[in-house]
Amino acid sequence: KQPVLKVENLKTYFNLGDDKVAKAVDGVSFHIDEGETLALVGESGSGKSITSLSIMQLIPSPPGEIIDGSISLSGKNLLDLSEKEMVHVRGNEMGMIFQEPMTSLNPVFTIGNQIAEPLMKHKKMKKKEALKEAINLLKLVGFPRAEQIVNEYPHQLSGGMRQRVMIAMAMSCNPKLLIADEPTTALDVTIQQQILDLMIDVKKKYGSSILLITHDLGVVAEVADRVVVMYGGQIVEEASVYNLFTEPKHPYTVGLLESMPNLESTGERLGSIPGMVPPAHDFPQGCRFAPRCKHAMDICTKDVPELFNVDEGHQVRCVLFAEEGEKVAR
Ligand code: SF4
Ligand code: MG
Repeated sequence: KQPVLKVENLKTYFNLGDDKVAKAVDGVSFHIDEGETLALVGESGSGKSITSLSIMQLIPSPPGEIIDGSISLSGKNLLDLSEKEMVHVRGNEMGMIFQEPMTSLNPVFTIGNQIAEPLMKHKKMKKKEALKEAINLLKLVGFPRAEQIVNEYPHQLSGGMRQRVMIAMAMSCNPKLLIADEPTTALDVTIQQQILDLMIDVKKKYGSSILLITHDLGVVAEVADRVVVMYGGQIVEEASVYNLFTEPKHPYTVGLLESMPNLESTGERLGSIPGMVPPAHDFPQGCRFAPRCKHAMDICTKDVPELFNVDEGHQVRCVLFAEEGEKVAR
């Protein structure tokens, strides 16, 4: 069966001038099946947000440019579409949720009008019908007083309520793919849980696929089916959630898991990864994680390691697995 989203060898570079090129996304390939939730994880600067912006084709250009690869949504290569066609895709086939809903909501329009507008534009609904649908959507995302909320303005709502509104808007077109970039990061811990529960609910109800971008492995454990770990603009590990948490392979993934707060006991972290993500215009030669890796050897600094298959659906970009695994051609 054809995946909902298929990204192949995506390269998104930024021209920084003075012959400096930031290889923010540097040869990334993954897919998302129907009804599946894929998490893209990594520290800030790893390339995960640029990957999602590339899929939506919202890369500021210049200085950014998708220089290679393909992005297929249900078999259609989005890179072949005009901006006009892409506007249609973003309005009808993709739903988007960002970290700070205040910046995505227009402060001068009521909530009702903002949900109704895309319904009128993309679904050709009349205003009255669209407002009625807005109320239905608001009820679906947990507003019992939806008839009242439609007349309110974004600043009258809390952060968690605004994120619910964003989810309602994202789902209004019944998208095949929901892209959520750090959807709970700006919210209080208790509200985070409610928003995650709502996403799980909505996914079940609509059968959508989700691309979830997050730095928070706790969120991953809760909602994702599969995980792609990014570092230095590349995928360094891909696995099912179960395999990733029980048998993490890449030293970077191991470091991320060790730096997770331990909720069961004291909230203490086992450790943290020393050093910083290298800037995308100045990657070290060879393995991009080598300067922070406690297993680094001479060979690590020669060539970028291949992705090796270590188990079904489990791939690792690290020379430690060259013997155990089989090279993946990509
Ligand atoms: Fe560490 Fe070498 Fe593996 Fe890179 S390739 S993660 S430096 S052991
Ligand atoms: Mg980001």
